[in-house]
Amino acid sequence: MKTLTCDVCRGIIKTPFMGRNYFHVAHRDLCEFCHDKLEYQLKPIVRTKLPFDYDWYNKLVQESIEKAVTKGKFDVK
Ligand SMILES: [Zn+2]
Repeated sequence: MKTLTCDVCRGIIKTPFMGRNYFHVAHRDLCEFCHDKLEYQLKPIVRTKLPFDYDWYNKLVQESIEKAVTKGKFDVK
């Protein structure tokens, strides 16, 4: 059986199913838990950005993930 490791929390994702329990974002593999944290962390930042800019957003996502990979977690409660 194929398994994946979450790049942030290092948790093992059993039977990964893209978009359900596993997310591939900015060349990183995220488990559902970490993906939720990422969205939670970005939501208030994205809300303040008008007009919305995809290049800016992609960069924000990538930087947030790389920071979380270094720390082993996202900075959200
Ligand atoms: Zn994770």
